[in-house]
Amino acid sequence: MNNTKYVFVTGGVTSSLGKGIIAASLAKLLQERGYSVTIQKLDPYINIDPGTLNPYEHGECYVTDDGAETDLDLGHYERFLNIPTSQANNVTTGRIYQSVINKERKGEFLGKTVQIIPHITDEIKHRIQILGNTGDYDIVITEIGGTVGDIESLPYVEAVRQMQWELGEDNAIVIHLTLVPYLAAAGELKTKPTQHSVKTLMQSGVSPNILVCRSEHEINDSIKHKLALFCNVKKQDVIQSLDAETIYDVPNLMFKEGLDRVVLEKLELSSEKQPELKAWNEFVNRHKNPKSTIEIGLVGKYVELHDSYKSITEAFIHAGATNQTKVKVRWIHSESLTPENAASKLSGLNGLLVAPGFGDRGIEGKIAAVQYVRENNIPFLGICLGMQMAVIEYSRNVLGLEKANSTEMAKELQHPVINLMEEQKDVTEKGGTMRLGAWDCEITKDSKVYEAYNTELISERHRHRYEYNNNYKEQLEAAGLKSTGINPKTGLVETVEIPSHPWFVGVQYHPEYKSTVLNPHPLFVSFIKAALEESKK
Ligand code: GLN
Repeated sequence: MNNTKYVFVTGGVTSSLGKGIIAASLAKLLQERGYSVTIQKLDPYINIDPGTLNPYEHGECYVTDDGAETDLDLGHYERFLNIPTSQANNVTTGRIYQSVINKERKGEFLGKTVQIIPHITDEIKHRIQILGNTGDYDIVITEIGGTVGDIESLPYVEAVRQMQWELGEDNAIVIHLTLVPYLAAAGELKTKPTQHSVKTLMQSGVSPNILVCRSEHEINDSIKHKLALFCNVKKQDVIQSLDAETIYDVPNLMFKEGLDRVVLEKLELSSEKQPELKAWNEFVNRHKNPKSTIEIGLVGKYVELHDSYKSITEAFIHAGATNQTKVKVRWIHSESLTPENAASKLSGLNGLLVAPGFGDRGIEGKIAAVQYVRENNIPFLGICLGMQMAVIEYSRNVLGLEKANSTEMAKELQHPVINLMEEQKDVTEKGGTMRLGAWDCEITKDSKVYEAYNTELISERHRHRYEYNNNYKEQLEAAGLKSTGINPKTGLVETVEIPSHPWFVGVQYHPEYKSTVLNPHPLFVSFIKAALEESKK
């Protein structure tokens, strides 16, 4: 047993209140006070991980260094804390049941009836404590997905109740995030939904230690008093969370409200050292005071739900701040693009990003977009499928291989310039079977990517099954599409670029996953810089 303290974050009243941002902001403040902190997300759905989910369901699938396909909240955790997360930081109900059922088949519970309590709850507690037991963290914050009162959340709330009982309230506390809505007709903030949601939590035996109340209006003293009285917390433990201009304001707002201080008091940890947030606030200042505005087109097939591209748009914000420019995103549906309308849909853009994706929906639009920016010298960044589309476009329109395509789109191809990876050929199961996680890449000097990274060896995260077909490498290079980044072990082409173009780079990996507030991603910084230069033309 070690001294790790646990903070649970539950949500009530409605979803989408921003539990992930509150958890990440609290963690940031505690980190700034000198504590080592990590955050974990427990998702109550039955998928083993979100890798098999359509982005329309829960937004982007985030990928960690160790190749876990995870909830997008882990992206926030990394962007705020600047430390990597791993498979242990995201657990779903599916994964919990899978381990329990596997153990049952092995006979580990021989003779016993396997039940939600204690077997599922024990597995949940085990998954929570895996992080604490590493000894690496003073505090583990566990965000429970979903809303209190949902049937599927019940085992998690029970596990929290047990952990609090076992460890004591000075070692495990519960923050409950709720909504205090404003009724315009009555001209009042309403506390009843919060009262009900806390009551629901209490019916499961959990009494929140701290309430964080999302609200569009200032929660005054008398409302705080009312919330405290009816929800059985102290008034100072009612923290308001007003709508913020940007998520990056939330750590400062939570500090002002004293969230980190009350958490430390309850956990009986010292709150002497104050959080400084120096580098953080320098970033926020640059982000809020841009000297110019540029417009970047984002071509994808899930653009109706912006969360599908969360890490990309956050990476734009980080890189924009570095370049002191505001990055405006023009969302462009790939299915709406054709070679005929590309000029009108893309005109005026200072840069174009073609997004990752799977399947053939919208790919001809992506190819048309690449052709337009290649021919018109507009900075281009293609990520994963976006890079593959750039290779196809170049093969078709420069090499003249009219039917060039990826074997993802059609099995029998005259020119499979993008091909299923050898190691994928026998893969039949969908879940967790892509080429995932961090892999090394060697970069050629005298290239745009080298200029960006300023180093010859990088490690980036991947999530794909198809790859650049090296049989076409000689032809493509001779025609001007250079391969400037190669996986040293397999020879897989990781980056392509056009040296004669102002800035045209395609990458097989996902740089967006590694961009953080304190370390904006060098490739995004370079891309935005090129777009900024384009805007001055
Ligand atoms: N569908 C492509 C592949 O599997 C690209 C994947 C992606 O964009 N993440 O290789």
